[in-house]
Amino acid sequence: MPPSFLPITPTLSTAHSGIPSRLLPKATHAKNLIYNGKTVPDAAPLRRGLPVPQGISKTAFLVAIEELRSALGPDHVTLNDKEVKNGWYMEHPNTHDMMPLFDSEEFIASAVVYPGSVEDVKLIVKWANKHLIPLFPISIGRNLGYGGSAPRVRGSVTIDLGRRMNRILEINADDFTCLVEPGVTFYALHEEIQKRGLGDKMWIDTPDLGGGSVVGNTLDRGVGYTPYGDHWACHSGLEVVLPSVGDDGDVSVFRTGMGALGVGGENTWQCFPYGFGPYNDGIFSQSNFGIVTKMGMTLMPNPGGFESFMYTFANESDLAPLIEIIRPLRISNILENVAQLRHGLQTLSVKGHPRTNYYNGSGPMPDPIIRQHLRSTATGECAWVYYGMSYGPAHIRGHKLSIIDNEFHRIPGCKRIDPATLPADEYFWSRDRIASGTPDLEELKWVNWMPNGAHAAFSPVSPIKGADAEKLYGLAKRRHGEQGLDLMPAFCVGLREMHLIVEIVYDGTDMGMKKRVEKCLRDMIDDAAALGYGEYRTHLALMDQVAGTYNWNDNALMKFNNTLKDALDPNGILAPGRCGIWPKRYRNRGWELKGGETSTEGAGVAPIAGESKI
Ligand code: ADP
Repeated sequence: MPPSFLPITPTLSTAHSGIPSRLLPKATHAKNLIYNGKTVPDAAPLRRGLPVPQGISKTAFLVAIEELRSALGPDHVTLNDKEVKNGWYMEHPNTHDMMPLFDSEEFIASAVVYPGSVEDVKLIVKWANKHLIPLFPISIGRNLGYGGSAPRVRGSVTIDLGRRMNRILEINADDFTCLVEPGVTFYALHEEIQKRGLGDKMWIDTPDLGGGSVVGNTLDRGVGYTPYGDHWACHSGLEVVLPSVGDDGDVSVFRTGMGALGVGGENTWQCFPYGFGPYNDGIFSQSNFGIVTKMGMTLMPNPGGFESFMYTFANESDLAPLIEIIRPLRISNILENVAQLRHGLQTLSVKGHPRTNYYNGSGPMPDPIIRQHLRSTATGECAWVYYGMSYGPAHIRGHKLSIIDNEFHRIPGCKRIDPATLPADEYFWSRDRIASGTPDLEELKWVNWMPNGAHAAFSPVSPIKGADAEKLYGLAKRRHGEQGLDLMPAFCVGLREMHLIVEIVYDGTDMGMKKRVEKCLRDMIDDAAALGYGEYRTHLALMDQVAGTYNWNDNALMKFNNTLKDALDPNGILAPGRCGIWPKRYRNRGWELKGGETSTEGAGVAPIAGESKI
């Protein structure tokens, strides 16, 4: 239900999370498409009132919030006691999952706090330990498909780090590194590099959409599409606020790697990630052990030229032989970036039209219908589309591209699509921009496949082997068929492994459909685990199940994580349940989600984990 007038999308000049002005026309178009697809009002009053977290009365909670307000300033703490407003990608909520797999008042915050400094973050941690109130840190909160900005525990207080801590602290044009605060988006970093006249010299690596933060995406181990696509591997140095209060009544802040040096560590902090002693950074990614307030990142030198290419493959059965061809090319770096092998249906869905434009039947869209519609696209009829990029000067690219061309043509029916034949608005050019480090806004369009479009992903990792691709594709196809859902898989090929990303697009207001989506996701996770595959990342609702599949040697990994959690966060205040790691206060009280639940809450929390230090 589009409102008669849609306000203009904020740009980077007015909001840290805004769109670069160069993308404003695209944002206006995308926003119109999204709002045209909304069949219910964008905002609804909270049906269940203020979501107070378990373990504290409403009165005590409100007193605690007043205390936080007077410490930080009244503008820097807001209660979430009025409405659920979804918005869209560029104007997303920071209180809940705007693409809820459950009821929209399940994964929801009670309040949002906006720290302006590391000292503020420490103060918030102290406050949470005093009142035993769960916190949930976000940088931007655009982790859509994996829970967005939502906390795992209903009623947590969200720490929106990005709103006031969003400085680019350094761009080092000699070392090709930068140091950023949590609220720096890929859009903002890219624009700043251009503004400083460094755009010809250095690139950033960006995910499909550029609105997420460099810190949040990296901590959740997101990927991009230049040779620097593994963001976690490319970061160097963290500054972390720990979640507990020490015997001295203070909250600890420490720096990893060279940043830990007593004097002068800044000069090598972003150049050498390890420092001396145990490499601790890993425990702060996909975890709930600390709040990251600064992060270093490497930047890529301009390779002196680039050239995107695209091949189509005619048959579904080409998948396994093609993956066998891709593996040696990728490992030897002839295929240089995290390339994508996408199902033909995605070529249709990324055009941004609703599914009903193509097909009105129930169940997965039949293959002949997909092929029939593909015939009239620039891509043409096919089963798979490969998007890649070659880097370097022309003579070097030419050498690599001819090897790729010869190898890919070993698959009968393989076609190279000449980019010169593709119009400027063809999706190919979005991949071209992304793989050359320019953040875009195109990928969002497939969300319009369904009214009130929402999405959640199944993201298993496997070796780059044809047999593995076939098994994963086969199980995804079977489970989608059982639940009557369209299957849109993409294989993202890393150096030694590939991520299969299956995004299921659903109507966020259709409870029946959401139940089918959840069942499909859970069945795929179990099927994959039985075959020896695990997910690299998952939605809040699925974290317990996925964590449960990493159960080698009687759950030794989770026992270790629990030991760390108890040591670092004895009161269990930081992001309880994130990545399946539950603090002692919550353990064995029914908080884990295993499937079929209608509530995300367990039966209470233990009063106090240990002696309160405050
Ligand atoms: P993005 O900035 O890409 O939108 P989010 O802010 O949604 O990403 O963060 C992704 C995930 O990483 C969240 O679940 C969040 O809990 C965690 N996270 C994000 N920023 C921080 C941070 N600064 N410290 C600790 N955890 C964080």
